[in-house]
Amino acid sequence: MNESKRAFGFETRMLHAGHIPDAVTGARAVPIYQTTSYVFDDTDFAAQLFELKQYGNIYTRIMNPTTAVFEERLASLENATGCLATASGQAAQFIALATLLQPEDEIVASAHLYGGTYTQFSHTLRKLCVKAHFVDPTDPKNFERALTPKTRALYGETIGNPRGSILDIEAAAEIAKARRIPLIVDNTFATPWLCRPIDFGATIVVHSATKFIGGHGTSIAGALLESGNFDYSHYPTVSDPSPSYHNLKFYETFGHYGFLMKARAETLRDVGACISPFNSFLLIQGLETLSLRMERHVQNALAVAQFLKSHPKVEWVSYAGLPDSPYHALAKKYTPKGPGAVFAFGVRGGREAGKKFIEALQIFSHLANVGDAKSLVIHPASTTHQQLSDEELQKCGVGPELIRLSIGLETLEDLLWDLDQALLATSR
Ligand SMILES: *Cc1c(COP(=O)(O)O)cnc(C)c1O
Repeated sequence: MNESKRAFGFETRMLHAGHIPDAVTGARAVPIYQTTSYVFDDTDFAAQLFELKQYGNIYTRIMNPTTAVFEERLASLENATGCLATASGQAAQFIALATLLQPEDEIVASAHLYGGTYTQFSHTLRKLCVKAHFVDPTDPKNFERALTPKTRALYGETIGNPRGSILDIEAAAEIAKARRIPLIVDNTFATPWLCRPIDFGATIVVHSATKFIGGHGTSIAGALLESGNFDYSHYPTVSDPSPSYHNLKFYETFGHYGFLMKARAETLRDVGACISPFNSFLLIQGLETLSLRMERHVQNALAVAQFLKSHPKVEWVSYAGLPDSPYHALAKKYTPKGPGAVFAFGVRGGREAGKKFIEALQIFSHLANVGDAKSLVIHPASTTHQQLSDEELQKCGVGPELIRLSIGLETLEDLLWDLDQALLATSR
């Protein structure tokens, strides 16, 4: 499609961006280029590819034509200048930070993070001599208060774990801008259909595409995206000559693609956490129906939250779509179509009731994932956080009564029936 002639709508881009039917075979679907490597036209061309003087396929650890369609499509949906797909969401975060940071650098991160992100920052980054300060994001001034002369990035989630808090992206972007450092936003729970953080000033967006983008619980994958609105000329890791590319200056040479070029040609090349072409194909299938699925996900989620709110076996419900949520105003601004489909509630009766509830559910699957078309549930106190005492659980904001739901696309009445019968089973 020639996008310069017309600004196509989101749904049209979900189906078409980044791809034209295969010229050789006429195949309408995006083919899976299941190949490790690509034949060079001649030796001069090969040399130019390796020098980054020509952009083209060399080896699937760095790029692949199926993956390129996924990347271009997601970039279009996020209003980004470009995208780099990775083996997982964890890999996307790591590649973004490993491209930006050096030993002794620091970041300020929201404390309302996915558990795996929290451990990556607090343990693995720490081993690489990068320190993360975690702050309560509900007051964005906390990001500013935690800045030190070594702070090189701010980090947060559009819709945070575990209570579904909404990040004030504009406020965080202002703080980052004043310090001339990038703001990185994990947009996994929102997807670009519910929120586009770049429109609110985010510099870099990361995704666990494992969740709503893939949408069917089949593939682990991730992505990082660049806004093109950050001046890296004062940011040495992206602007300085790179010894691993004959002193190439990525920002000077590639401008608004400089960060992503470096992330691909250096960090992904060296870390090796690349996506398989087959998983890229599955993510492309996911993107084709993203808006339809997200509409139903948020519609079901709101109805489930309202149902739980009025249920006698429920202590509290934390969903930003409910008017009494402390995050409702921010949700209206940043996710006006609905604040996602992952949220927590408290079951009356604590840890024991939580276990009985999970065991009695019939449609919800008990597992450690979110963003599947199928409804999912987990009770952190008896699984991911089981080694903690009740007191320690309260400290991480995960009470023994907390149940996390990821609302899927089943018939709403069936979901309400399942939740009701399982809640009643807690007092048996
Ligand atoms: C799942 C998840 C991740 C990690 O992604 P993987 O694909 O599991 O590596 C990061 N952030 C959020 C918000 C997630 O839900």
